[in-house]
Amino acid sequence: MVQILAGVAALVMAASLPVAAQVAPERPGIPGNASQTGYASAMAKEAQGWLADLIRINTSNPPGNEQIAAMYIAGILAKEGIKAEILDLMPGRSAVVARLRSAAMADPSKALLLVAHLDTVPVDKSRWSVDPFGAVVKDGYLYGRGAIDDKGMLAANLAVFISLKRSMAHLNRDVIFLATADEETGGDASIRMLIAKHWEKIAAGYAINEGGNVFLKNGKVQYTGVQASEKVAFNVAVIARGTSGHASQPTKDNPVVHLAAAVAKIGNYSAPVHLTAIVKRYFEGLAPLEDDEIGKWIRSMDSADRGEHAQRVISDASPLWNAMLRDTIAPTVLTAGVANNVIPAEARANLNVRLLPGDTIDVVLNELKKLVNDPQVRLELQPNAGLAAPPSSLESDFYAVISKVVTQEFGGAPALPFQSTWLTDSAQLRLHNVQAYGLVPFPLAQEDLRRMHGDDERIPLAAFDKGVEVLAKIVTEFAVAH
Ligand SMILES: [Zn+2]
Repeated sequence: MVQILAGVAALVMAASLPVAAQVAPERPGIPGNASQTGYASAMAKEAQGWLADLIRINTSNPPGNEQIAAMYIAGILAKEGIKAEILDLMPGRSAVVARLRSAAMADPSKALLLVAHLDTVPVDKSRWSVDPFGAVVKDGYLYGRGAIDDKGMLAANLAVFISLKRSMAHLNRDVIFLATADEETGGDASIRMLIAKHWEKIAAGYAINEGGNVFLKNGKVQYTGVQASEKVAFNVAVIARGTSGHASQPTKDNPVVHLAAAVAKIGNYSAPVHLTAIVKRYFEGLAPLEDDEIGKWIRSMDSADRGEHAQRVISDASPLWNAMLRDTIAPTVLTAGVANNVIPAEARANLNVRLLPGDTIDVVLNELKKLVNDPQVRLELQPNAGLAAPPSSLESDFYAVISKVVTQEFGGAPALPFQSTWLTDSAQLRLHNVQAYGLVPFPLAQEDLRRMHGDDERIPLAAFDKGVEVLAKIVTEFAVAH
């Protein structure tokens, strides 16, 4: 820590004063104690510039085109005397990796991986109030696709990594910077390929990645969710078949009708609650942070007499909680019909299924078949199913460091283990024995979180600054010799 402070303090001195004077007076989204130390705001200020540049490089996936962003990052690292390696996975699609060594001989089991992804989901430009690739700053927010997911974390990782190098920190483990490609579709340029082709370049015992969040409630941090596990995604086709014919003489086997009935049944189905160890600990930690009424129902969730009612109250209170408690099935795409006056021979729907780790898709499929109970309707599991990975340990040294630092930094708001309903690159890492934790370190309100993958994605600059500072403290505490 001391070495970093000294190193970056020198940077602050070298930086021009006007930079410090430009700090936005408005700091929406988080309490006023954002950056208490000059070193952090200087580092964060520089990182803000990288984040803006990364937003301007369009890496909407598909097609991704992550190579340009990978080269940009390699260029930034080269200026710092860090040799980065661009790992090409498909034409125009690359990851980038760089390493700060702790010793001549690497010990992969100790190494710490800083992970973020280069690609973003696409945009519907017509629904944005600003250019999604313009990195517009407005009212203390930086707008742009990827501002939170995941270029914010990418820029923060870069800042922390570079500050370790500049300060010549005495590392007790290798620190590896990794920017992945194709995270959003998990295709042939994704971390799966990277691990298959280049595992030795990224092998690590620990990782920090997206996946968890610092949750604000009424302007204050309520808790930090440190992702240690994630749900597993599947797609299932619902296929109804019947006799095609003239719409002027409807038949009972019209597949559109059979499909619609099946989808309605599935859409109203709620899978049984299954409290995984991590979700149990999450709710135990959450109960005292919620109001008395919600707290009471959370505590009753596994009681014999009131359990079922309590689970219903909690599920109805929040779609996130509902999805943490059970397997979910969301109908997402409907396809049927060729003309307005023709009864089609086939109608299809897609179900996006998210299983709790440990649950199996066959059980869910059997349940849905019984529910639909229609010989004209078939369920078919689609390829590219997600992989179930073991959870990361809640007893590791790294988890303890993350918990300690975030609790200190966010005014005593606790760290809670978090099982995300969404997917991240961490599942692939956990399958390779990496203790991977998800934490986007920026304190964010629901209003900002819901814009991820949506319109007008933005990050409050004060939250970004604070996140850079928090991430620096986590990495310093874990990887720098004291
Ligand atoms: Zn992401």
